Amino acid sequence: MRGVMRWMVWLVVALAALLVGCKGTAGDETAAPERTALPAAPRVAATAAATVAPSPTATATMAAPSERRLRYTIDRSALPPLNYPALTLRIFVGAVHEVAVAAEGATDHWYDPESGWVTVTTEASEVEVILQGTVETDGFGQAALAPLKGGKAWAWSHSMDDNGNLRAAIAVLEQFGWRGTLYLVADWITPEGTDSYLLDEGELRTLLEKGWALGNHTRDHQCDPEQIDRQTVIDGEERLRAIAASSTRPGYRLSSFAAPCMEWTYDPLLREMMAAGQTEALFNEADKRDDGYQNYYRIVVAAEGEVEEDWRTVRFDPALPVGRNFDFESAEEGKGPQMVKAHVDDISALARQGAHFWYNTASHGSGEERLLEVATHIYTNYGPEGTDEVWVAPAEEIYSYLLLRELAVVTRINER
Ligand SMILES: [Zn+2]
Repeated sequence: MRGVMRWMVWLVVALAALLVGCKGTAGDETAAPERTALPAAPRVAATAAATVAPSPTATATMAAPSERRLRYTIDRSALPPLNYPALTLRIFVGAVHEVAVAAEGATDHWYDPESGWVTVTTEASEVEVILQGTVETDGFGQAALAPLKGGKAWAWSHSMDDNGNLRAAIAVLEQFGWRGTLYLVADWITPEGTDSYLLDEGELRTLLEKGWALGNHTRDHQCDPEQIDRQTVIDGEERLRAIAASSTRPGYRLSSFAAPCMEWTYDPLLREMMAAGQTEALFNEADKRDDGYQNYYRIVVAAEGEVEEDWRTVRFDPALPVGRNFDFESAEEGKGPQMVKAHVDDISALARQGAHFWYNTASHGSGEERLLEVATHIYTNYGPEGTDEVWVAPAEEIYSYLLLRELAVVTRINER
């Protein structure tokens, strides 16, 4: 956790009443509230009295339901423009009859009566949680930012490089309702309607509109460190920006870059370009360098205790590149889908111990069979057909969430 006090700017926006009901599954209001261990919530500043005297009808001993409202502001002014502005708040309310959330902007929520927590995912700058039938409970109103969107236990992202023979693998992710990132070489994008193994411009526009992420993989896929220059990065980005501009997502930010051949000398170049405002990239998805950092693709996003930074495992740092597991597509003994499935099983077990990971994989064309094996394993065990604990999204979306979690300021503004 970083100190973010300097980001504390007040932002109060007019609240349009968009009420979304949440099914009330709590027990009756006379029941003793469940005591739950509360996680620390250092990013949330209580600016009104944390405990407000309950109204005469709101005590635990009275049967009449009471209404209480909790309001929070989410200040994103410290962040760059992001394609994915949603943030997930977890708010402790204890036992309540009914939960509704009012917010200006896309919002959804769920209430877990067993733990007494409401999980709110929102793009809004202010949310109000309206509770019916509350009881007095220690920690009422305490809020924390969820490690991952929707309160999921861990995240998986997958990307595919180099434009060619990708249609079957794209269809694999789509059959599970998932999306990934396509790292594209600008010179290899064919005109719309071209009959080729390479993705054409019209297909890329459609994929972007369906929620796929497009990432810059340079103009010409130069892997020789002696030949690399910033123009290949700029041209690659410009080509994709033109495609986005003619789509239904014209403001799409090309927030990710992947170095061809994982060539590490692109990394200092990209940092220079970011600092000089020559690229809109926010991160390099090619964490492989000669020394120091070596392709860390098991990224710890939150952990209750210390996490050993062992092989391929590192804590998230928004200033550092993100690694990718290309062994995904290897036919070598001990690699390939078996390795990936073992990794995600391990990560799921670690989540139960309070360590939350982002796992990032990658492949090239003709990798659909391996992708199907891994995606099926994740979907049936950890997705909607299993524990529903995994968040699968393009790397850009996961990175954006983690950046929001670092830099957004959530403030509880009052209770009434
Ligand atoms: Zn490549």
